[in-house]
Amino acid sequence: MQLVPYQNTIEHVSHVSGRGYWSGRAVSLTFLPSEPNSGIRFRRVDLPGKPIVSAHVEHRRDTQLRTTLVQSGAHVEMVEHVLAALYALQIDNCIVECDAPEMPGMDGSALSFAIALERSGLRRQLAPAKMVSICAPIRIGDESNYLLAIPSRDPGLTIRYVLDYGPTSSVPKCESTLLVDRETFTTEIAPARTFLEEKDAKGLQSRGVATHVTYRDLIIFGDHGPIENSLRYQDECSRHKLLDVIGDLSLCQHRIQGKIIAHRSGHNLNGRLAQELFELTDKQQMRKAG
Ligand SMILES: [Zn+2]
Repeated sequence: MQLVPYQNTIEHVSHVSGRGYWSGRAVSLTFLPSEPNSGIRFRRVDLPGKPIVSAHVEHRRDTQLRTTLVQSGAHVEMVEHVLAALYALQIDNCIVECDAPEMPGMDGSALSFAIALERSGLRRQLAPAKMVSICAPIRIGDESNYLLAIPSRDPGLTIRYVLDYGPTSSVPKCESTLLVDRETFTTEIAPARTFLEEKDAKGLQSRGVATHVTYRDLIIFGDHGPIENSLRYQDECSRHKLLDVIGDLSLCQHRIQGKIIAHRSGHNLNGRLAQELFELTDKQQMRKAG
């Protein structure tokens, strides 16, 4: 018989500070414990009334190269790396206070968030964890960019990410398969950094975006590999994309049981699968009740 897992929050308050990639604005995050069944909630302490933005897929908005959440006129953006750390470290309930809308970019990875949250410790709560189980295949996308969710006998969530931008891309083809759990996240997934091709990075900066970002702040691929930088893993790029999948899927607000195969998926497709998973939780709850 499988034991019912419980929800968790953090034991101690922790902090992370940095600058937003897109805005360049300084931002401080404070992670605070929260009551059972409250989920992950951002609190904009820089705005009057300190509005809350819940990390729920229904608040997701499409934005370029990042995940944005909007609720009652307040927004938070670039939330995917923070959310991935919270999900993988099995923190179901947490308040993330922020004093600017954009989360800190740090080194382009989720490592700073994972370290802070590990220091916070886990506190088990007397409420069963909300689970969604993938019982039948779900496929989203087209021939080249897609996500496939399938049932799995392995416990928890396993993700395989295949990155292949074709022969003209300077980003090398790679793939990663990892079980998402507390043990592997901090060593195998969280350190993987975000990346861009040089032409795309120059395009953004010519439009006045992310002008303070340097070659050391993320991985920029030129014709001969990373510029003024080196990879932490040979498959660092697919590991990072896998990290984004975790953060985006966590917006279904349930722990996921099953396997995801991702082929060139980005935030939009990830968000659409999170929506499907959320709708599946409704059906599974109705079946239980019936
Ligand atoms: Zn990312």
